[in-house]
Formats: sequence, C-alpha cells, structure tokens
Amino acid sequence: MTRDEMATACEDVAVGAVVEDVNVHLFAAADELRKTCAWAVDDDGIYHTGCGHAWFFDTGTPAENQQQFCGYCGGALETKQEGQ
Ligand SMILES: [Zn+2]
Repeated sequence: MTRDEMATACEDVAVGAVVEDVNVHLFAAADELRKTCAWAVDDDGIYHTGCGHAWFFDTGTPAENQQQFCGYCGGALETKQEGQ
C-alpha cells in the first residue's frame, strides 16, 4: 500500500465515522418529529397534556385555535375525550 493509498483508506474510515454519527442524529431527530402528545379535555374544558401539563382555551378546541403541537413537549397534538 502506498502512502497515498494509506491516506485515502484513513480518510474513508474517518468519513465513515462521521456518516455514522450524522445518521445517529438524524434518526434521533426523526423520532422527535414522530412524537405525539395526547391532550384529554375534562368537564371544565381544561386540557390535560400527555406530558403532564394543563392548558385552557378561552374559546374553542385546540384544532379551532390552530394548535398543532404541544407547547410543552413539542409533540404533534392529538386530542381525546377524558376517559378514552
Ligand atoms: Zn406535550
């Protein structure tokens, strides 16, 4: 193996490690994007978030207020009736 071939081989190993590292971060980011947060509304109109918080809208539902994501955890917002 020549010195140049050796250098190229070392570069390939380094690039492989970087690609692997980038993939780990991409998969983590994709998981984050898929995360959802289920909000359950109680009889008083208070929404209890799946991540342990509570939210109240003066009027309307999360959908009617154009809320697509939980403001606490950033998960895609899903609504359900309490007890479901
Ligand atoms: Zn949440």
